[in-house]
Amino acid sequence: MIEMQDVWKTYSNGTHALKGISVKIDRNEFVYLVGPSGAGKSTFMKLIYREEVPTKGQISVNGFNIGRLKQRKIPYVRRNIGVIFQDFRLLPKLNVYENVAFAMEVVEAPKKVIRKRVPEVLELVGLRNKANRDPSQLSGGEQQRVAIARAIVNSPSVIIADEPTGNLDPETSWGIMQLLDEINFRGTTIVMATHNKEIVNTMRKRVIAIEHGNIVRDEMRGEYGYEF
Ligand code: ADP
Ligand code: ADP
Repeated sequence: MIEMQDVWKTYSNGTHALKGISVKIDRNEFVYLVGPSGAGKSTFMKLIYREEVPTKGQISVNGFNIGRLKQRKIPYVRRNIGVIFQDFRLLPKLNVYENVAFAMEVVEAPKKVIRKRVPEVLELVGLRNKANRDPSQLSGGEQQRVAIARAIVNSPSVIIADEPTGNLDPETSWGIMQLLDEINFRGTTIVMATHNKEIVNTMRKRVIAIEHGNIVRDEMRGEYGYEF
């Protein structure tokens, strides 16, 4: 469902962030992206959610060649990809319910559908009783759960997570991983960049290691493989 063929990304300042990446990620896989800072992990993920376009090569997501997508088709592809960040990126002036509902309003879901779907998703992430809180009244782990609810509310086929446990303590991180595992089990592909050695070595999923813009390792039940 995600396929890259000889993908290169050179930023306008001349930095070669990715240097000829070829990879296939099947429907329903859970993939950890590992590697040192600056290796190209975020760039790899940005290309998938079309925040960046490749300098050379092809990327298809669900059969769409997303590097060459017409502008008007971008929202259609993005709707099918949920994104989660290390720093949560919630809208501070909206409460929990509104943050999640907003993701549906953006794609013009009918009000009736929103009113039914948002409570379901808040239930799934364990925040139904905190729907009226503002993000500032939540712990880091709870804020990340809101971000996950927002990412899955439109039922995307892919979740991209850029160090989703990077700001969380170990116990809270495990709660977030259980939730992502459950979402994956229910049929969503997950691509997650992480520096969390313990999580990668315990979960034993596919591990793709990127260094200096190249894939240097790709193992089905892989390990973290670094000391940091
Ligand atoms: P990682 O996520 O593994 O830390 P990144 O994909 O963020 O790696 O970065 C890969 C390389 O590209 C780094 O050298 C980084 O400095 C550079 N880079 C990332 N984003 C940009 C940008 N917008 N402009 C220029 N260089 C960038
Ligand atoms: P632009 O690309 O013009 O900056 P967007 O509305 O496309 O504006 O993106 C706004 C922000 O939302 C960006 O920071 C981007 O990283 C993030 N983003 C893009 N696609 C998604 C998505 N499918 N889910 C969540 N966040 C996304």
